[in-house]
Amino acid sequence: MKIRELPKEVVLKIAAGEVVTGCFSVVKELIENSIDAHTRRIEVEIREGGKEFIRVSDDGEGMSPEDLKEAIKPHTTSKIKSIEDLYRLNTYGFRGEALSTIASVSRMIITSKQEKNSVGLSLRITGGNVVAEEPYLGKTGTMVEVYDLLFNTPARRKFLKSAAVEGRMVTEIVQRFMLSNPSISFLYVKDGKVIYDSPIDQPLKDRIRLIFPELKPDDLIEVEYTDENSGISVRGFVTMPERTRLNRFGEMIFVNSRHVKQIELNYALERGYGETLEKGRFPFAIIFIEVDPALVDVNVHPQKLEVKFSRTSLVLDALKRAVRVAIHQRGTFRIKPGIS
Ligand code: ADP
Ligand code: MG
Repeated sequence: MKIRELPKEVVLKIAAGEVVTGCFSVVKELIENSIDAHTRRIEVEIREGGKEFIRVSDDGEGMSPEDLKEAIKPHTTSKIKSIEDLYRLNTYGFRGEALSTIASVSRMIITSKQEKNSVGLSLRITGGNVVAEEPYLGKTGTMVEVYDLLFNTPARRKFLKSAAVEGRMVTEIVQRFMLSNPSISFLYVKDGKVIYDSPIDQPLKDRIRLIFPELKPDDLIEVEYTDENSGISVRGFVTMPERTRLNRFGEMIFVNSRHVKQIELNYALERGYGETLEKGRFPFAIIFIEVDPALVDVNVHPQKLEVKFSRTSLVLDALKRAVRVAIHQRGTFRIKPGIS
């Protein structure tokens, strides 16, 4: 026979190619897990862009020692039980792949404790194998430390970018979660330097200005729109047409809390500005679209960067209208400044 089943380690390392596409993707998966565990504070620390060290810790629900041992196995998840659950998803995670794949291509220490247990557990894992375990008596929550990412797949490690570039990509991911979760406090430390230490329950506008310090309070226009028929809601902030930049990096669109990269959404956003947006200029926009989860398929991309809408045109239309309404309101306000 020529056909045989692949060894588990090989399967995991192949899967890791999809999940671990850079240090940023590790940070993304770990932050998502922390948010899914209802944390109020997330601390992220990286060294050398994350190539040497990544730590994400939270004060969320934590795991029992038994669950922790399960969590690092492939395809184990507490988030869905059946395929139907995918269509009423209210968590970031559901594939049960992150911890197992990251553990298989790094030296990981994962530590967790639940409130109701006085003792938690800490596991030391090397290339997917648990090499040590010890009880943990610290605070409730979970901490994942990842050393030497991809150390055992040297060909892939070579594909990591420079520490500067990896670090910049991690920073972008952290910023994105900070923006979509202003109620969560974030500490972000890069090579020993505190980059962000944001308060809990920060108003979105303040959070935006923390991330984009070049914006003034007046630059931001609130977007608040619900399409009565479809129930799609669009909220967030955009900048006035004169407060733009030369690239789309300031345009961030989240669908049901998930950051999505889908150019049609950017086009719809920009169409909302109509003629007021100069060619080649792009606004800042932090937009949250809420759609009935039954109308969205998040399963189309392993990194969940794309989602599939069953009624795409409704979403694009709602987004365009929402921006148009917001811009117009501010516009008329500006035209009649003297009226009291
Ligand atoms: P997924 O998030 O898709 O379920 P993961 O491999 O990322 O898969 O995590 C596996 C499981 O481990 C999760 O379903 C969750 O139960 C648990 N877990 C992971 N990270 C945390 C965390 N920070 N706090 C509490 N539980 C966690
Ligand atoms: Mg996960």
